[in-house]
Amino acid sequence: MKSEPKWKSGSGPFAKSTLPWRFFFPFWFLLLTALPTLVSFIIDYKFASGRYLIINFTWATAFLFLHQLLFKRWFYYTGVATFALLGALELFHWCLLGTPPTTTSLLVTANTNYQEALEFMELKGGRVFLLFLPYLATTFMAFREAAPKKLLAKYPLLYGSIALAMLVFFVENGVNQRFMRKASPRLVNLCYVFVDEISFYREVLEEKRPKALVVQQNADAEQHTFVLILGESMNKRHLSLYGYPLTTTPKLKSRADLLVYNDVVSSYSNTIQSVLAMLTTSNLENTLVPEQSVDIIDVFYSAGFETHWISNQSPVGLWENVITVFANKADHRRFVNTTSNTSFESTLSISYDEKLFEPFQEALSSSASKKLIVVHLMGSHSAYAKRYPSRFEQFPVKGSDVEKTKAAYDNSILYTDYIVDSLFNAISHFSRTLNNACYTALFVSDHGENVYDEAGGVGHDHTGQLLRAHVEVPLLVWLPETYRIRYPEKTQQLLKQRSLPFVTDDLFHAILDLNFIDVKEFDGKRSLFNPAFNKTRQRILEDGHDYDLQPKRHNRLKNN
Ligand SMILES: [Zn+2]
Repeated sequence: MKSEPKWKSGSGPFAKSTLPWRFFFPFWFLLLTALPTLVSFIIDYKFASGRYLIINFTWATAFLFLHQLLFKRWFYYTGVATFALLGALELFHWCLLGTPPTTTSLLVTANTNYQEALEFMELKGGRVFLLFLPYLATTFMAFREAAPKKLLAKYPLLYGSIALAMLVFFVENGVNQRFMRKASPRLVNLCYVFVDEISFYREVLEEKRPKALVVQQNADAEQHTFVLILGESMNKRHLSLYGYPLTTTPKLKSRADLLVYNDVVSSYSNTIQSVLAMLTTSNLENTLVPEQSVDIIDVFYSAGFETHWISNQSPVGLWENVITVFANKADHRRFVNTTSNTSFESTLSISYDEKLFEPFQEALSSSASKKLIVVHLMGSHSAYAKRYPSRFEQFPVKGSDVEKTKAAYDNSILYTDYIVDSLFNAISHFSRTLNNACYTALFVSDHGENVYDEAGGVGHDHTGQLLRAHVEVPLLVWLPETYRIRYPEKTQQLLKQRSLPFVTDDLFHAILDLNFIDVKEFDGKRSLFNPAFNKTRQRILEDGHDYDLQPKRHNRLKNN
């Protein structure tokens, strides 16, 4: 009888070893399963977890064992391919962001369209990909390593004990209902949680019909319009309106009809979670799911308002942008950024926020006597230099990469200053001729942006450390003379509370308060514009970060 084929092309350091375990654990395959975790320890040991070494090892063993038991090579190759793919994605995340993948980062990625992804890469630079070369080499070697044969029959005791240990690990976690959480590779676990979350969002939001609520309206005006302008990635410290030394908001600063709120932070550092929290009764404490919460479209619809959603953000993401689904509840929807996602070329094109002017005018002139108009800007989304026309390049984009990025960001703020000011002018112009009207508007950014203000970084992905720059946002209320005369008491309240600490997850209540709309879900303690406002609320933001406990070292503005 022919002797059993040995480890033919075993090429790892153990190839010459006589120990039986070298057969069971092909070196390169083992290295492949461990590499992302080993690299994560080098990148940031605080976020690394050795648990995944054991989990991946156990799974690798399972593939190898099936191979041994059934003599099917493809078990081995499937194992290698699975770990190569999962590991590549995990490594990619670690190298690019310096932190492990989380459900939030998956949610952000899923709602990022191709153009955003491309711009993100531009911003972060491509050097990290060099780290991928050793990984590719390991994958290649693992595939080349021939799978061992019939070793189970040769070392039954050893293999039997390993199989038993593996089985105990899986069964123990399964019985305790933590198989997905505690016994699966990191990305499998994350995808499971993520798919669960996203399907839940879709289920609820796809109804696309506003909920009918019992509403009490205390405004006595015949004509009533509220405009909500949602900014994008605007760090308030880059606005001269908030003391930035460069003149980035000349138009807004010269307005006498604007109330500036000084101590406002967003609850999250990403668009989806932040905007959903702003517009619904869900907040950092109750974290209501959409089916339990009520949003401003429900409320204004129930109060007899015609609802408009006008957006320059791309309506399409990998899973369809969650906010788009939310916007679909409005009576009228206009997405002006239609150039994205159609082809590779179009993803590189530009969609300036001034495209919103025309549909905004149309919404304003609609014959309905009561209107809610939500305007979603592209604002200062990366890449900053693509957010403004050349005539707004007041701060020259030159010098080092950091200087260029900062200048482009400031130019995008200058452009948003023009956009928001123009929108206020349009409402002002439109409502001037109306008697017996209540017109008001509110501008807020979805979250902040770190533009080398802190920790030497750029972007708004919170990834571990939530910085002040990620969440400090401008909040402005446009309050025309007509409103001030008609509602002097509320005006006094609005003026008085400009410096109180606020988190935008309670914006829902503030918006209702500003518009004298009452529903049973309204809570005066959560409204920045209410005498009952709770100014001692602890600002525990995303992932438990206590904003007010954060070091204030970066309070020093750049260029100071
Ligand atoms: Zn955003």
